Amino acid sequence: MKWIAQYGAYPVIVLGSAWGNVCLMEAGMGVLLSTYLPVTIGSLLIIWLEWQMPYRASWKPSTKEVIEDSAFLALVHVLWPKFLAMGVVYLVFDTWNGRDWPVARWWPREWPVPLQAVMMVLIVDGSRYWLHRLSHEWEPLWRFHAVHHSPHRLYTLNVGRFHPVDKGLQFLLDSFPFLVMGVPPAVLSLYFVFYAVNGFFQHSNVDVKLGWLNYLMSGPELHRWHHSMWSRESNTNYGNHLIIWDWLFGTRYLPADREVETLGLLNRQYPSGFLQQMAAPFHAGLDQAAR
Ligand SMILES: [Zn+2]
Repeated sequence: MKWIAQYGAYPVIVLGSAWGNVCLMEAGMGVLLSTYLPVTIGSLLIIWLEWQMPYRASWKPSTKEVIEDSAFLALVHVLWPKFLAMGVVYLVFDTWNGRDWPVARWWPREWPVPLQAVMMVLIVDGSRYWLHRLSHEWEPLWRFHAVHHSPHRLYTLNVGRFHPVDKGLQFLLDSFPFLVMGVPPAVLSLYFVFYAVNGFFQHSNVDVKLGWLNYLMSGPELHRWHHSMWSRESNTNYGNHLIIWDWLFGTRYLPADREVETLGLLNRQYPSGFLQQMAAPFHAGLDQAAR
């Protein structure tokens, strides 16, 4: 029974949320409900699984962590990109007449919605692979990205812990081009459901197994290594949704004979509060162990 839950939970919840989105859109429920209802149900199921079959009992978050991560999730992960998107829509379409730009005709709107969403996932993941890799390998970007790597344990809500500068750079690649190209709302909605539910799963403390899907998807088994304290282990598995780009560029890492050990940054006293983490990137070397 546990075997079925371990191998079934990830594909059932990810595909079920995407399928729910398509059905709700087709039933005329509107973009808002069709997007957030499957994301809410999907994320609640993942959180429930964390209690039922945790990967590490010691990764259970404290109340303080839940409050901090909820603040990051609401302000940086949800509201900040919405604010940026509103700014882009206002500037590009209302101020600069973006609907007449040649780029606005590039997107294949006539394709079936799921196919357009798959294309969006492939393009986003290809570009974000390099941003993510650069954010680990180039110190000025790492300072901002280090905020995301600061937790000492992984659980569902960690997905939202990003510095707004890091999140803004991601927005430039995963949202801005698609808004300018006028990608239909149904495609953006389906993409978002997949992005959100997979993101929650990736960071979750659920003892799921992906099997052969570990060669296609960037799920929790691969992503745990990405949060290792040791850079030789964490400078791997950069894929946001898919692992194919890591595979292609030689950064996929999933040892079969051991489990990940310590997570987080070398500086075990790196600040964890919301406001302190806003300022943390402006202190050089703060992520490093005290010398
Ligand atoms: Zn990273």
